[in-house]
Amino acid sequence: MTSPRVAIAGVTGSIGTQSLDVLRAETGRYELVAIGAGGANPDAVVAAAQEFDVPVVAIDDPVAAEAIAERLGGREVRGGPGALASIAAEADVVVNGVVGFAGLDVTLATLNAGRRLALANKESLIAGGPVVQAAWATPGAALIPVDSEHGALHQCLRANDVPDRVSRLVLTASGGPFRTRSADELATVGIEEALAHPTWSMGPKITVDSSTLMNKGLEVIEAYELFGPGSPVGPGVALEAIEVVVHPQSVVHSMVEFTDGSTIAQLSMPDMRLPIGYALAWPDRSGVANGRIDWSSLARLDFEPPDVGRFPCLGLAYDAARIGGTAPAWLSAANEIAVEAFLAGRLRWIDISAVVSDTLTSHDGAPAGSVGDVIDADARAREVARRVVTAVSGVAP
Ligand code: MG
Repeated sequence: MTSPRVAIAGVTGSIGTQSLDVLRAETGRYELVAIGAGGANPDAVVAAAQEFDVPVVAIDDPVAAEAIAERLGGREVRGGPGALASIAAEADVVVNGVVGFAGLDVTLATLNAGRRLALANKESLIAGGPVVQAAWATPGAALIPVDSEHGALHQCLRANDVPDRVSRLVLTASGGPFRTRSADELATVGIEEALAHPTWSMGPKITVDSSTLMNKGLEVIEAYELFGPGSPVGPGVALEAIEVVVHPQSVVHSMVEFTDGSTIAQLSMPDMRLPIGYALAWPDRSGVANGRIDWSSLARLDFEPPDVGRFPCLGLAYDAARIGGTAPAWLSAANEIAVEAFLAGRLRWIDISAVVSDTLTSHDGAPAGSVGDVIDADARAREVARRVVTAVSGVAP
C-alpha cells in the first residue's frame, strides 16, 4: 500500500504544528508532499521542510518565498497569490489550517481537485457555505471537519445507517474563560484574560472567539453547512435542530440525537491531534491514541444552557444563519475585524458583539452564488466593520 500524500496549508500555525505531531507519531504512514504558510515565520517553514523532506513549499508573501527558497536550495518554493491553493493538487488529503477568510482558496482548490479536505479553517465554510458545498459535490472530493465538535458529530453520525432518523445535533461549548463572570465583570475584561482558555490550547483569534462564544456561533453555522439541507452528504438537519450546551470539562465533544431519543456522544480529553488524526486516517482510524480518557480521574461531567444575554455573539450567529446568503460571511468578517481591534487594544471585549451586531444591520441581502459574491461580501463587511469599530471605540485605526 502506498502512503497517502498529505499537504498542510498553514503549517506554522496551531493546527499545522499539531498536524506535524500527528505525522511524527505515525512515521511511515503518510508522505508529506507539500507545506504552505503565510511567510511570517520562515524558520518554522524551513525546519518542517527539512525534517520531513518536503519537495514543495508554498509561501503567500513573495518576498518571504524568495528568502525561504534560498535557504531551501533544491526544493520547489512557490510564492505569491495562489501559491498556497496550488499545493492542493499535489496531495490525496489537504489539511487546511489557514487562519481566517484567507483559507477559502485552499478549501475550494482542494474540493475542486476532487481531493479530501481536512478542514480546520471554519471561516471558509461559514463565509462561502453554498460555494463550498457546490465544490464538495465534485467526484472524489471529501470533507472531514478538523474541529473537535464537528469531528465528533462526524463520528457520531457513523451510527446513522438509516435516512431521516437524526433529530438533533448538540454542540458542546466549554463556555470559555468568562463562563462564570457577571455582566458587570465582563465590561472590564482584558486581553490576557481573554487569551487564557481553560481547556484548549489554540491560536489567539479562536481563543478570543471562545471567550465571546462567537466560536460556538460560528460552529453552529459550520454544523449547518456540513450536516444541513445544503450538504451533499446529508443528513439534512434543520438549523432549529442544532443546539448548544455548555460543558466546562470539554470531554464530550458533541452529540447526535436520533428520533427514538437515543443520543450518541463522542468523548475524549481535549486534544486537537485526535480530530486531525481522524481526518488524516479516515475512513480508517489512527493507531496512536490522543486524548485517551483515564476513567479513574474523570470526576464529573457538567452541562448547562448557554447564556445568550451575557454572550450575544451566539444569538447573532443564529440570526446570520437564518438570513443565509452572505449574512454568515458578514458575521465572520465583522468578527475578524472586531477581534483584531480588541487584540490591538483598540476595542473593549464587550464591544466585540456590538461591532458584529451593528455591522450586520447594514447587510445588503446579497446572495452567495459565486466565489466573487463571497469575496465582495467579505470586503464590504470589513469596510463597514472598520467604520463601526471607529464609531464604537472612538479611536481611529
Ligand atoms: Mg471547536
